[in-house]
Amino acid sequence: MEKKELLDLVIIGGGPAGLTAGLYAARSQMNVIMLEKMMPGGMVSITAEVENYPGTPDITGPELVGNMEKQARDMGLEIKSEEVLLIEPGAGINGHIVKTDSNEYIAKSVLIATGSTPRKIGCVGESEHLGRGVSYCATCDGAFFREKEIAVVGGGDSAVEEALYLTKFASKVTIIHRRDKLRATKVIQEKALKHPKINFIWDTVVEGIEGKMIVDNLKLKNVKTNEITDFKVQGIFVFVGYIPGTSFVPGIIDKDQAGYIKTDMEMRTNIPGIFAAGDIISKKQRQIVTACGDAATAIKSIEFYNDWYFEEEQYL
Ligand SMILES: Cc1cc2nc3c(=O)[nH]c(=O)nc-3n(C[C@H](O)[C@H](O)[C@H](O)COP(=O)(O)OP(=O)(O)OC[C@H]3O[C@@H](n4cnc5c(N)ncnc54)[C@H](O)[C@@H]3O)c2cc1C
Repeated sequence: MEKKELLDLVIIGGGPAGLTAGLYAARSQMNVIMLEKMMPGGMVSITAEVENYPGTPDITGPELVGNMEKQARDMGLEIKSEEVLLIEPGAGINGHIVKTDSNEYIAKSVLIATGSTPRKIGCVGESEHLGRGVSYCATCDGAFFREKEIAVVGGGDSAVEEALYLTKFASKVTIIHRRDKLRATKVIQEKALKHPKINFIWDTVVEGIEGKMIVDNLKLKNVKTNEITDFKVQGIFVFVGYIPGTSFVPGIIDKDQAGYIKTDMEMRTNIPGIFAAGDIISKKQRQIVTACGDAATAIKSIEFYNDWYFEEEQYL
């Protein structure tokens, strides 16, 4: 295993947050590397069209993150294809140790930008129809379903809030929930129950998603009677939770109840020198633009921390 010099910064994750942080850090002439376990781009790589990133009205997800990656690399960012398995806070002399599947790094600061992944239903046809009628993001994809009949799966706050949002576009929204009542906050429930465009199918789970190229039918199972029925829709939005990418993050770093990393407004975690940005942090709005904003803020804090901490060290 190769031991590295003391880096200014290790960025973990190469989605919009990581790539923006990489651009800013390289531009500030930090000694920085990015570690990405797959291809850079994150969740945006699987987004067909992005309509809400300012200044790029007609762009696909892969094009947008491709541009971000090129811009960061051109500025001098080094991106390594490695999966981070462990962070050891403060374990290196004057720095944190980051262990990957093939290497070990020591850095003054670490930025965690590993995002989160939508929890899937896990039924037949779900992965095959991703971007072809199956979506996990109403803000991103709702506008593609103007005047269409769609289903929303889930019964919590995000499912019901997103169903309400989707009524702006769809002609009919059917909430499919595996229980006989919603878990969402009362006030949101009441809005949905009264809404003329929203219908409900209770005690039901989705067993299959069908359609030749795009979604046109759901196989539904009533969990009380086990009866299987067909339900014709042109889209299905799944809101059954997200899984934050924190498997390698040590327990001493504070997280919220859902497992997202807690930061302050400067993107600092409770451990000095460890920062987080993007979808991985505890916040309300998880979008490309907020991920990029978090990252730019984080780099300012990291510069400040590195300068201050390592100048102090010289006088100890
Ligand atoms: C289907 C879908 C469509 C969307 N469409 C839009 C849209 O149109 N507009 C919009 O604003 N937002 C959209 N979003 C939300 C947007 O994609 C996210 O808010 C954004 O990608 C968050 O960026 P991020 O960098 O924080 O995380 P991510 O994009 O999730 O990137 C995290 C990266 O970290 C890497 N990683 C994870 N663990 C490790 C590890 N241990 N070691 C190394 N690397 C690791 C992952 O491989 C990934 O590349 C959409 C989301 C989904 C799911």
